Amino acid sequence: MASKKRRIVVVGGGAAGILAAWRAASLRAEVVLLEKTVRLGTKILISGGGKCNITHDGPIEDLLAAFRKNEARFLRPACYRFTNSRIIEMLTSRGLRVYTRPDGRIFPVDATAKDVVAILRGYLDDANVEVRLKTPAQGLILEDGEVKGVSVPGGVEFGDRVIVSVGGSSYPNSGTTGDGWAWVKRAGHTIVPVRAALAPIDLKMPFDSPAGVAVRDRILKARKGGKEIARRRGDVLFTHRGISGPATLEISREVAEVGGDITIEIDLLPDCSPEELNSQLVDYCREHPKRALLRFCERIEIPESLLSIIGMGAGGAAARVDKKTRNQFASTLKGWVIGKVSRVPLDKGEVVSGGVALDEVDPHTMLSKRAAHLYLCGEMLDIAGPVGGYNLQAAFSTGYVAGESAASP
Ligand SMILES: Cc1cc2nc3c(=O)[nH]c(=O)nc-3n(C[C@H](O)[C@H](O)[C@H](O)COP(=O)(O)OP(=O)(O)OC[C@H]3O[C@@H](n4cnc5c(N)ncnc54)[C@H](O)[C@@H]3O)c2cc1C
Repeated sequence: MASKKRRIVVVGGGAAGILAAWRAASLRAEVVLLEKTVRLGTKILISGGGKCNITHDGPIEDLLAAFRKNEARFLRPACYRFTNSRIIEMLTSRGLRVYTRPDGRIFPVDATAKDVVAILRGYLDDANVEVRLKTPAQGLILEDGEVKGVSVPGGVEFGDRVIVSVGGSSYPNSGTTGDGWAWVKRAGHTIVPVRAALAPIDLKMPFDSPAGVAVRDRILKARKGGKEIARRRGDVLFTHRGISGPATLEISREVAEVGGDITIEIDLLPDCSPEELNSQLVDYCREHPKRALLRFCERIEIPESLLSIIGMGAGGAAARVDKKTRNQFASTLKGWVIGKVSRVPLDKGEVVSGGVALDEVDPHTMLSKRAAHLYLCGEMLDIAGPVGGYNLQAAFSTGYVAGESAASP
């Protein structure tokens, strides 16, 4: 008599859940994938502005180095088991063409995130995964420390193994409302406080925000009590509420984690030391006595609309500018204080930091160390990578490993 197939319930049809369901089904398990919303892969669809930065190119060790040390340690086995090349190979073998940007980010060519999701859906269908949309799971069925299934409206979905991959809690309209954390907490897991990461930063600014204006390739810094707590080089975009853009997203996690009275400033001349700047300003005043000192900014490509905000006191002719004003102007250029942090909105982050404590999940299998037959993967774990395809890769890799382990004898 043929042995009964192992039944696996996967909760959450994002990057992690799709890979988990496909991998488990391809190992001959009977798999049902429960997705709360009307479609699979909602976050993949909005990723990379709809273009989907699928993953990051390069050796796995370099990819891991982009994460915090404890996160990299946890991710290492999964990322070697299911690499960046594997996800690309899965997609390109079904017709997607991809290109690698000079900064290592991999995107589809002549295609969008929609095509990525369509291909992944094809894998699920070919492996006979039963996909149930509009099916919000409501909790885990636990008996004597063992998970037996998942409660759903009108009943229970029983499974020999349960994989939870319901994501984080940013962009709640996309379906991710942090449901899984309460469930696994009941199973004995610790949830590291959840905060915004890769999010815009709302500021109280001493001037009207020049919304829509961007400064390119500068150093954005956050300070608390004068001490620097974060810095990144990149583009900063002013918004109606504060700032966004790559450099902002990348310091948002530290800003949200540290909290309290935080000031944000921009080094508008990152390649110039204060001494060099000072001597450049002295030369400028000597060479252009009739020009406004503020016009010095023309050399450093600062948008015109910012000059009146930055240039308090430096509007007069350079010849008449005294040393104090010149020094003040120099310190503004090296550390232009643009405001105090009022909020780092969790709902607007590309990911959240915090989630299921990593030491309570086996990194080789994604098996919970708190409940038998329970597997956890994707963003609901305490992992948050930077911008660049790292977060999808973490979800793909941990999902793949969860599916493989759950289906293995
Ligand atoms: C605007 C934006 C842009 C991004 N761009 C990129 C990018 O270009 N590259 C990159 O690497 N990362 C990007 N990310 C991050 C990346 O999308 C996530 O890290 C990744 O999708 C997480 O995958 P996941 O499967 O763990 O969770 P999700 O993709 O969030 O999937 C979780 C799924 O679970 C479902 N769910 C939730 N609760 C329940 C329930 N109770 N029952 C059933 N189903 C449930 C949700 O509806 C959702 O479909 C971006 C994120 C955002 C918000």
